[in-house]
Amino acid sequence: MRKKFYFTTAIDYSNDVIHIGHAYQKVVADVIVRYHRLLGREVFFLTGVDEHGAKVQRAAEDNNLDPKIFVDRISTENQKQLTALGVAPDRFIRTTDKDHIKTVQNFWLKVKERGDIYLADFEGWYCEGCEEYKTEGDLVDGRCPYHPEMKIKRLQEKNYFFRWSKYENFLKKYINAHRDFIQPESCRAEMLSFLGQGLNDISISRQNVSWGIPVPGDSQQTIYVWFDALINYLTGAPQGFWPADLHLLGKDNARWHALLWPAMLKSAGYTLPKTVYSHGFLSLNGQKISKSLGNIIRPQELVDKFTTDGGRYLLVGCKNLADDGDISWQKMTNTYNADLANGLGNLVARLSKLCQLSKLKFVIKVPDFSQVAVGEYRQKMEDYHLNEALGFIWEKIKAVDRYLNQKKPWEIKDKTLLRDNLRKAVTRVLEIAVLLTPFFPQTSEKIKKIFTGRGVIPCSPLFLRMKK
Ligand SMILES: [Zn+2]
Repeated sequence: MRKKFYFTTAIDYSNDVIHIGHAYQKVVADVIVRYHRLLGREVFFLTGVDEHGAKVQRAAEDNNLDPKIFVDRISTENQKQLTALGVAPDRFIRTTDKDHIKTVQNFWLKVKERGDIYLADFEGWYCEGCEEYKTEGDLVDGRCPYHPEMKIKRLQEKNYFFRWSKYENFLKKYINAHRDFIQPESCRAEMLSFLGQGLNDISISRQNVSWGIPVPGDSQQTIYVWFDALINYLTGAPQGFWPADLHLLGKDNARWHALLWPAMLKSAGYTLPKTVYSHGFLSLNGQKISKSLGNIIRPQELVDKFTTDGGRYLLVGCKNLADDGDISWQKMTNTYNADLANGLGNLVARLSKLCQLSKLKFVIKVPDFSQVAVGEYRQKMEDYHLNEALGFIWEKIKAVDRYLNQKKPWEIKDKTLLRDNLRKAVTRVLEIAVLLTPFFPQTSEKIKKIFTGRGVIPCSPLFLRMKK
């Protein structure tokens, strides 16, 4: 049977429209998906929104809107923002979707049947920002490290609990036996160390949150965020695509994806995903990107300034997937000018002009993706080292520039030699265009068109130079 690939991103919380920090992850996933698709693999790409919970309910109230109307608007807007960056999921899932609600309730019943759900009193420190209880060890100076601006609350209520502790040994064995399961290595080590401290059972319902999926058989309780949100990956998997090949998520969600989700799946009788990859965060001018700090950049703003492919390049290329990275408008403008307007744009403009001036005609076939996506490039793409794959392509761009500087086609009088040199340069640029396809779906098509028509066609700049 043919292998199917299933890639997911985290689903974004619907209290606000996404910013480039969220979009970073989606563009990375989109590049990975396009790469696999270009190799002829059968791929399904899922992303979406997490729409339930107290924080969304509060945001809707702040806007004097019914929660459903509020999340409808956020969902529409988020999809627009992602489309602007060329992110093309096969399904944009919403946790208010009917099939998801059904999947969550069925999942709950399976876990309950296993004897892994029980009702008990619970009291603990609760961060409304994260919508989760925190242990003393999670807090920094008595506050949530992700939401230091919010006061942590002491909550007490009757909740349903999931027997997470029961799966401690299973998780240890599983993680040790599957090196690829949690990536990167630093996250894997962190998760094993967390497991080493022992797991406590976890509350999976809320008493006073009406905006959510009701617990089957108990109308007083609503299913809590993780037992709703994580299950979207199952809801969204078409027949034959489970288990997922990759769950891509931000590092603040690592514990839930790497330790809670596998325990939930094991309890309900499902196969575990192949890889959970926790990526680092983007900061802006050294600061966390956040609404409360007022330093948000929306994906559309990035695209308005740098184009779709430019925005994709600036996000994916700015850092290693695993690490944190910092951006600023100034840095992005510099990179855009140096790598896109000058580097790639300049090369294409220069070579197409040389071809036109030569008045030579040559037909060069665009190579297949699988022909050129080999060796170092392929390894980097398969390992999710996307910015290194870009670095590899940019070395090729520089090499063609050097080649032209060496051969000086503008001084060559011999037609055969000129044809030979130009043909070599065009062949290499077409290879570059093909390697760029997952990153630059639009630009790579433009480059192919320029060099593969009846004659090389005059081109307007691929990327306009930006004023500083
Ligand atoms: Zn928090």
